[in-house]
Amino acid sequence: MIIVPEREIAGLISAEDSFEAVEAVFGAMARGDAYNFPVIREAIGHADALYGFKSGFDRAGLVLGLKSGGYWPGNADKGLTNHQSTVVLFDADTGQPHALVGGNLLTALRTAAASAVSIRHLARADARVLGMIGAGHQSAFQMRAAVRQRDFDKVVGWNLHPEMLPRLAETAEELGLPFEAVSLEELGAQADVIVTITSSFAPSLLAAHVRPGTHIACMGTDTKGKQEVEAALLARARVFADEIAQSVSIGEAQHAVAEGLIAESDITEIGKVIIGAAPGRQSAEEITLFDGTGVGLQDLAVAARAVELAQARGVAQQVEM
Ligand code: NAD
Repeated sequence: MIIVPEREIAGLISAEDSFEAVEAVFGAMARGDAYNFPVIREAIGHADALYGFKSGFDRAGLVLGLKSGGYWPGNADKGLTNHQSTVVLFDADTGQPHALVGGNLLTALRTAAASAVSIRHLARADARVLGMIGAGHQSAFQMRAAVRQRDFDKVVGWNLHPEMLPRLAETAEELGLPFEAVSLEELGAQADVIVTITSSFAPSLLAAHVRPGTHIACMGTDTKGKQEVEAALLARARVFADEIAQSVSIGEAQHAVAEGLIAESDITEIGKVIIGAAPGRQSAEEITLFDGTGVGLQDLAVAARAVELAQARGVAQQVEM
């Protein structure tokens, strides 16, 4: 069995590798070659922790496994990351464990890759201003992945907690782009692409904020009850998702569907656009919205890629089971 420790991941897999892995597995899902198993997420009644599994099987790539982990709110005080995850891959032919892979950085990379895939396939080609809503841990990864997709010349950002905005300013600077902290009204008026990545339970971005032609990647809502954008915005947009079942149950679309503003059948799986089985953006005026809820197959895809790279570079640790 191969072990790829967390500390090796940063030196192994790039945003580009992650993009390719995630785009490919979204395509495999749309072809029916890959599917996710039901997600388990439980409050375990210890250390205030939320613990769970995301798992799936990609029959085309023969990638089988799970990501396990969750959220331990007391970790920060111990000098550890609150979100903890580990990926286990199994040999699809024998069921034997194949690899154990640190999943913390991979989670950020695969989440950023998903919104970048949506920007590649749905944003206007002439998009120039990137709007960021959210300035937490994930936001830097999101910005770095997004700017690879279009010729952006500016980043505008808003965050409920303004003291966190320097993270957006520093990331934009690292990417050589000017950054401006703005109101939500101004963000909607300027941005061609908007990424939302917050842990909010109430909408920040309203339908009235967004102008025609905008692409929005909603990446923060991954749990029942969370919400980043007004449900009416989904009714104004063409809605795409990584997986429709998750989108309507734990994603941004849960609210619009519950309010009867859109139906499940109004949502297009992004993989269908990737494989050419459904149209992407159809006009320069259309608003497109990607509901990126985060599926287990994304984790398995980037972990499998990290294992390949670790083996190729001789940094995979081999242990006997
Ligand atoms: P973080 O704790 O580092 O940052 C949280 C962000 O949300 C900050 O910008 C904070 O200001 C903002 N925020 C908190 N409460 C808010 C509120 N009431 N209204 C508006 N904004 C609020 O978290 P992170 O690691 O950056 O993750 C952000 C979100 O992304 C979380 O909800 C997390 O569960 C989600 N996430 C989704 C995926 C996916 O695949 N879709 C993957 C990883 C994380």
